[in-house]
Amino acid sequence: MESLYRHPSPVNPADALVALALVGPSGSGKSTLCRHLLETTALAQKPIELSRSFTTRAPRGAERDGVEYHFVSKERFRAMIDAGGFLEWAEVHGNYYGTPAAVIDDARARGACGVLFDIDYQGARQIRARVPTLVSVMIVPPSWQVLEARLRGRNTDSDEVIERRMANARAELAHYAMFDYLLLNDDLDGARREIEAIFVAERARRARRAGLAEALLRERR
Ligand code: ADP
Ligand code: 5GP
Repeated sequence: MESLYRHPSPVNPADALVALALVGPSGSGKSTLCRHLLETTALAQKPIELSRSFTTRAPRGAERDGVEYHFVSKERFRAMIDAGGFLEWAEVHGNYYGTPAAVIDDARARGACGVLFDIDYQGARQIRARVPTLVSVMIVPPSWQVLEARLRGRNTDSDEVIERRMANARAELAHYAMFDYLLLNDDLDGARREIEAIFVAERARRARRAGLAEALLRERR
């Protein structure tokens, strides 16, 4: 009779992918730290992808459709909600933002080892409800003064928009208790090292590696 031990089962790729949400007040450093993870190829042999959202807000500065966001009308956004096109969606600062429904499956099909979400706390809550293994990080600014200076230094928003983002910043931070990690973004090098450490540690979690051990255990020496 053929031994059942001859065919080791493959590692379950569904368990291996890290879905990582970076959340925090506007200007706290979410996109800076996402960019760093995407560029740090030494973290993993496989690529990390950034989830690209749909939004009803207008492009700002040099933003292009299909690059930073998919920029769509409110009507199109509503039609996408009705068609079940979003993994999560929310109203943020008076505009609608949503994560495409298939983003994790698509990344996995392309062989990615991680997907990053630059979203707000409402989005992280909704994704966690559907994807319990979501890893969530809240980026904390060193002070309100530094946060405002960074928003102004970015040179992308009017005084009025900065005022509104500062007013919303406290409400965003107030949700810190639902996050797995709090990352203080003071010194940029330190913050980069910390987000890398979180990603690497999450990759090594037993739940994501169990398939490796199980495959070995099923193999005959
Ligand atoms: P978010 O994506 O959360 O809105 P950004 O990543 O755009 O924030 O960061 C806001 C601004 O602050 C950018 O101009 C960025 O270069 C700058 N910045 C981010 N982190 C730091 C840091 N640790 N030290 C100094 N400047 C920073
Ligand atoms: P901005 O207009 O500065 O690009 O983004 C404003 C806020 O919306 C940020 O906090 C950003 O993280 C959040 N955001 C961007 N895309 C999404 C999304 O798809 N879903 C949710 N819930 N929030 C998003």
